Amino acid sequence: MTSKRIYLDHAATTPIDSRVKKAIDVKGDLLMNPSSIHRFGQEASAVLDEAREATSVAFGAGFQSAVFTSGATEANNLVLRGVVKAFYRSFRSDLMIPPRIVVSGIEHDSIIHTAKDLAEDGVEVAFIGANKKGVVSARDITAAINERTVLVSVMAVNNETGAIQPIEEIGRIISQSREEKKSPYPIFHTDVAQSFRYFNCNLNEINADVATVSGHKIGGPKGAGAVIIKPISGKYGFGKIIYPILTGGGQEFGMRSGTENVAGIFGFGEAIKIAEKERAKNKKKVSDIKFFFWKELKKYFPKAQINGAENLTAPHILNVWIPGNLSADIVMKCDLLGLAVSYGSACGAKSFKPSHALEAMGLSEKRIRESVRVSFSPANTLSEAKEGVRRIKKALI
Ligand code: PMP
Repeated sequence: MTSKRIYLDHAATTPIDSRVKKAIDVKGDLLMNPSSIHRFGQEASAVLDEAREATSVAFGAGFQSAVFTSGATEANNLVLRGVVKAFYRSFRSDLMIPPRIVVSGIEHDSIIHTAKDLAEDGVEVAFIGANKKGVVSARDITAAINERTVLVSVMAVNNETGAIQPIEEIGRIISQSREEKKSPYPIFHTDVAQSFRYFNCNLNEINADVATVSGHKIGGPKGAGAVIIKPISGKYGFGKIIYPILTGGGQEFGMRSGTENVAGIFGFGEAIKIAEKERAKNKKKVSDIKFFFWKELKKYFPKAQINGAENLTAPHILNVWIPGNLSADIVMKCDLLGLAVSYGSACGAKSFKPSHALEAMGLSEKRIRESVRVSFSPANTLSEAKEGVRRIKKALI
């Protein structure tokens, strides 16, 4: 293969932004254990503080609101398991009635599988489907809440279709009902792993209590992410409504033990700052590339259809049905021509199971098995989009 490889799978992961990489190269190796008392430790601790400050500011939350994790999978586990644990331990430990959690059926596997795992332990779980556009209804979600519901989890942007979910509306309804009941429950969590680079994630403005985010989806390194929690009232903050699932040395305010991945978190903080600053510019650039790609693709595959809505989706994700071509064949044939696209989410791709997110939208199995996800980032160019379509045509026609 002689032609330049083209990467159109940025929903799976993004390359590290060169500025982030440079910053890590300069500082990364010098960082020692941030819990150490000596100066080396204090320097590392100051680096964590800076990343924490950047993260807290981006989410409109206080300094101690961000807990660093190894990524969004761990962050999502901490939220789901930690909320249920806190409920059992501190609020209703005397009651044998199981708590309930409400999650959308289009969530990432790190939510779906964690919710199913909790269900094995007796937690009641309600999975709520989406419409044909891949959007869950705020009314369906809030109608599934009962007096035992401790947590509602709905992602801001779906990782397979790019569909934008009605977070603000769900959050508004939940906080109103909480005020009426004078209860901290249900807590409203949103996974913004696919949203942060392109959309405002200020918790006060999107009406969410807790968010989870991952560095490697936003031009940062793999292995670093965070949970950000807005104190629901002075009374209910970290340690009250979420209990740790990793126990040990008590790092991260006791919420996530284990020596922090300082270099990774430093890079994550830098990526957060850049993503915040360049959000509007990146959104426009990536959206232009996506729609150019789609227009080109339609020229050669007039029967192709978008899974989800054409508009009102995140700028970087395009999920298309190309009738008559199996997803796995498309991905492999394109790969042989040096073009990276995907089907399902990267985490589920090797299982060859039909995508649960597309299933939750009610799409036929045939359509799901003939769909691919193409996803972009600010690192892409229009000429890559054009060449990408040319390679798909060469692979399939
Ligand atoms: N949530 C969403 C929406 C994602 O797209 C992903 C990554 N595919 C994750 C969570 C998991 O993130 P991480 O790889 O950092 O564990």
